[in-house]
Amino acid sequence: MIPLGIAIHGGAGTILRSHMTPELQAQYENALKEALNKGYSLLGQGGTAVDAVAAAVMVLEDFPLFNAGKGSVFNHIGKHEMDAAIMDGSDLSAGAVAGICGVRNPIALAKLVMQRSEHVMLFGKGAEDFALQQKLPVEEETYFFNEQRFQQWQEALAEDRVSLDHNDKKFGTVGAVALDASGNLAAATSTGGMTNKKFGRVGDSPIIGAGTYASNTSCAVSCTGHGELFIRTVMGHDISCLMEYKGLSLHEACDVLVHDKLVKIGGEGGLVAIDRHGNIAMPFNSEGMYRGFKNSDGKMQVAIYKE
Ligand code: ASP
Repeated sequence: MIPLGIAIHGGAGTILRSHMTPELQAQYENALKEALNKGYSLLGQGGTAVDAVAAAVMVLEDFPLFNAGKGSVFNHIGKHEMDAAIMDGSDLSAGAVAGICGVRNPIALAKLVMQRSEHVMLFGKGAEDFALQQKLPVEEETYFFNEQRFQQWQEALAEDRVSLDHNDKKFGTVGAVALDASGNLAAATSTGGMTNKKFGRVGDSPIIGAGTYASNTSCAVSCTGHGELFIRTVMGHDISCLMEYKGLSLHEACDVLVHDKLVKIGGEGGLVAIDRHGNIAMPFNSEGMYRGFKNSDGKMQVAIYKE
């Protein structure tokens, strides 16, 4: 029998214990559990890995504390420009959107790009028009407003004025990977990108092969971290290639990328990944990563810091 499994993340980075209260930690953990339960229950009913990862990511997009959907950060001009991607490992079909505003659930739009358009990636106004045509819920700016994010943006703006080499580590993302009862793998990732981003900056999340990748021949991967570095390592696809062409295990391949290749170019972050045997890896080289998994061995775990 094929094992079922789902793993999710809510972003990696400098998650300071000093900023974490027991109440806040409980909120994060409850949101992670809700997303896991949502995705896993679909798998348990015979649903596809694609539907499971999309559903889990939508739960996290609706939760204001994660940087995706409702909780997306402010860009340089005070807007919420979001990116998302989804990939079906059974036939390598994929859908992605970049630089979109107003769409309540960017992952739902990415899924429709995959299933109802002849393209893989749509950006900006065109992608928003496609969302309207597909009758996806669209929200006013106020839906995405969050006082804490606003303050983060104000700080980033102020630092920009005084410091050109300002290193903004205020990122975050949500993502999911899953293995379904038919043995199919899927990955989904959604993000608001980096606080105060300019010039239409797009990170790794919507780039197939970088922040998001799935192939039934190897694994499904969803990344979080400093996107530019994940694009340069072609993270998701490289992990898949190490498994497919060199015979590395999921954990070995993830270790090479997250703890060696990424580190060598100064990259920080992590990922969740699952292979076709149901093995799950959740490596990160940052201080913490909101993460969790649930599988048909009856195991469920959520965590934030290093164990
Ligand atoms: N990877 C995302 C980006 O660079 C951000 C993150 O995962 O924290 O847009």
